Amino acid sequence: MKLKWLLGLVTMVSALGAAAPDDPVSRVRAWREQHEKQILLELFDFLKLPNVATNKGDIERNAQALTRLLELRRFLPDRIATAGSPVVIAERRAAAARRTITFYFHYDGQPVDPAEWTYEPPFSPVIVAEHEPAGRTITLSSWNDKIDPEWRIYGRSSSDDKSPIIAFLAAIDGLENANIPLTSNVRVVLEGDEEAGSPSLETVVREHGGRIGGDALIMVDGPRHASGRPTLFFGARGIMSAVITVYGPLRDLHSGNYGNWAPNPALALAKLLASMKDDEGRVTVDGFYDDVTPLTAEERKAIEEIPDVAPTLMQTFGFSKPENQTDRLELRHNLPTLNINAYEAGGGVGGQGRTVIPASASARLDLRL
Ligand SMILES: [Zn+2]
Repeated sequence: MKLKWLLGLVTMVSALGAAAPDDPVSRVRAWREQHEKQILLELFDFLKLPNVATNKGDIERNAQALTRLLELRRFLPDRIATAGSPVVIAERRAAAARRTITFYFHYDGQPVDPAEWTYEPPFSPVIVAEHEPAGRTITLSSWNDKIDPEWRIYGRSSSDDKSPIIAFLAAIDGLENANIPLTSNVRVVLEGDEEAGSPSLETVVREHGGRIGGDALIMVDGPRHASGRPTLFFGARGIMSAVITVYGPLRDLHSGNYGNWAPNPALALAKLLASMKDDEGRVTVDGFYDDVTPLTAEERKAIEEIPDVAPTLMQTFGFSKPENQTDRLELRHNLPTLNINAYEAGGGVGGQGRTVIPASASARLDLRL
């Protein structure tokens, strides 16, 4: 896959904050402030729809809800059937538009275990105003005071990626209610198999590109910057997965009888993986960085101006130093990665703990390219 370089920029919101009260941003903001509860109630209705892609009935209900939400905003939606979940596309044309902007979202969520949820089950969204041990939750339908932006919604896909869909629709409503006409045709593409690695999206884009493409594509699916400021990422890396298996003896062998004599594939795999990266986190596989386009001075400067959130993140995640101590996180975002995400041999550490030389050892890797 061709490498595409990622540059995170935290936009300067102060300019928006200084806007005059009757400019478009202020008018839309005023509408949003008056309709926060209504926007959240629409989000909650959407979050109540289970959306694990393997359950076709659930996914269909999500696609139907999206169709309805888009029709309400005078978009013309269409559902494209795939081997998996339907892809919902829609367009709203603007009278004097000179360009077309496409927005991408996904409406499926990761599989979920309700037993791991603290407040409510995953598809019963709830506002948490105060975390454990106090754990104060708020019932939105009976809430009539101001909405505190520090509250958090707990519900499957509330962050990834359903809130962005409702936020987008609310932005359309805000513009409409402030009588601000769209200056671009707006298209949306809503996928229902993103969490499964988007197996059908490429085919859909190839076959229906004429109804999806635009002058710009905005993917509304990514983390909020830890500084809390709005963030634009220019570009995105793709992902490739690999499983590496090293084979040893034909069957598991007794480690008392044959240990330190028969070759151990778990050790061989550990050495192989260890050889793929140096102590600075640089991948040592030949040619790995060959087609990396170096950042320009301007891009580096833009990265330097992003608030450095590394200390906060490291404290949150509980480690004291990153793999590479020279590059900041956003510079690492601009390089391909090699990551070990699972490793197993001999039945796993949680298994019965047999004293064997395992017959094989496997690791699963993901590479962001
Ligand atoms: Zn996502």
